[in-house]
Amino acid sequence: MLGRKKLYSAIALAGVLVLGFIATSVISYFLAEDSVSGHIADETLPLTSDNIYSEIEQDLLRSVLISSLMAHDTLLRDWTIDGEDEPEKIVRYLKEIQQKYDTTTAFYVSEKTRNYYHADGVLKQVSRDDPQDAWYFRARKLNAPYEINVDTDTADLSRLTIFVNYRVTNYRDRLIGVTGIGLSVDSVARLIANYQTRYDREIYLTDRQGRVTLRGPHFVGPDTLRDRPGMQHIATTILANPSASVSYENDDGRRVYVNSRLIPEFNWYLIVQQAQSSTEARVLGALLINIAVALAIAALVVALGWYAVRNYQQGLEQMAGTDTLTGCTTRRLFEAIFNQVRNHAIRNNAPLSLLAIDIDHFKQINDQYGHAAGDLVLYTLTDIFRSHLRDNDTLCRWGGDEFLILLSDCTLPNAIRVADAIRAAVASHPIRASEQIIDCTISVGAAEYQPTEELRSLVARADLAMYSAKRDGRDQVAKA
Ligand code: GH3
Ligand code: MG
Repeated sequence: MLGRKKLYSAIALAGVLVLGFIATSVISYFLAEDSVSGHIADETLPLTSDNIYSEIEQDLLRSVLISSLMAHDTLLRDWTIDGEDEPEKIVRYLKEIQQKYDTTTAFYVSEKTRNYYHADGVLKQVSRDDPQDAWYFRARKLNAPYEINVDTDTADLSRLTIFVNYRVTNYRDRLIGVTGIGLSVDSVARLIANYQTRYDREIYLTDRQGRVTLRGPHFVGPDTLRDRPGMQHIATTILANPSASVSYENDDGRRVYVNSRLIPEFNWYLIVQQAQSSTEARVLGALLINIAVALAIAALVVALGWYAVRNYQQGLEQMAGTDTLTGCTTRRLFEAIFNQVRNHAIRNNAPLSLLAIDIDHFKQINDQYGHAAGDLVLYTLTDIFRSHLRDNDTLCRWGGDEFLILLSDCTLPNAIRVADAIRAAVASHPIRASEQIIDCTISVGAAEYQPTEELRSLVARADLAMYSAKRDGRDQVAKA
């Protein structure tokens, strides 16, 4: 009964501990997750976006500088003004530019002849009727000195060329042609791929309508922002603002943070996004570790608690005078009882005897059948002992598997008779422990109280007799 109560209170204690630990772990998990989300949205993504943006700008600026250099080159201007003789001259010039600056192309179109000069020669004459040449007629009317134009190859989005179209004027500021270079956007694509693998972020560019124009190698899903799962609602926010920080929930139910910004030179949006997964996994890992630690600590506390309660209970039992397992009198109480019984015997001049009983090979029983079966043997045997005692007799668990029986009003021969009856009863009473039958025997030492003797001496004599019974082969009674 007590054991079960102990178990219930241990389970309750463990439950409270584990619940407490889990509650604090979960709260700190949500706090951490919150700060991680904030970190992604407010710091990480804008930083990535800034880096990519400035690298793209750097590429563009360089191209504009080269084109400006060409447009102001006196060689190019004088040669045009002088009538465009010896086209090889200018072809060589363009070739040199292309090689020196490692550009995809270098070109010059003359306003007068409409010839399209290129590093490979005179390619063609631009014409108002050819839609491919529309750029020229746009560039010649520009108010600004140059424009940046991105020619998209719809067949292969990864092969794009950025053209800088720079107006060339004579010394009176009249237009005499348009020159410039073309840069492959490979460098931008490489940049995207690099950032993407390094930081586990998805990076791509879209035009003002939200169509994806440039993307990294692992881009999947629809090519239009509005068609991308979960992005319908935020697409408008992105496309209506020069920069935005938004988030949405993707197909897997994970939060994805998005940072967008317009690159005015392209008229494109740079979009950097990150799903919560990797950081969240780390936070989740921390939560699981927390819970594991909590469980381990709870188990330790319960074990310590159990141990403390058991010791405390044993102390209480000692004080209470009853052994919980067998219901026998404890050693401490027995000492008090003995004094009373002895005084009574002395007063009445009555004999008094003591039996010392020890179970034979009890360790072996424990080892073979388990501790619980050992306990069963202990209290079954005490029942047998009791059935042979009178009201005035006292049964004491002296310790472990040793018992004392104080027989009031009993001479040594009578004590031996009682002892032998008990021994025989034990030997003929196999104990059933679940599936097993346990045969056990006891060895008994009997001693009669001698006037003026102390309890210690009486016990020692009974013990000596009991040991001699053991020595003589056990399952027997010996007298002191
Ligand atoms: P012997 O015949 O010489 O007495 O051999 P034994 O194996 O009985 O040796 P001993 O008396 O020294 O062994 C006592 C054993 O009793 C050792 C201890 O583990 C076991 N024991 C002591 N208290 C308890 C208990 O409350 N329950 C159980 N199951 N075993 C106990
Ligand atoms: Mg024993």
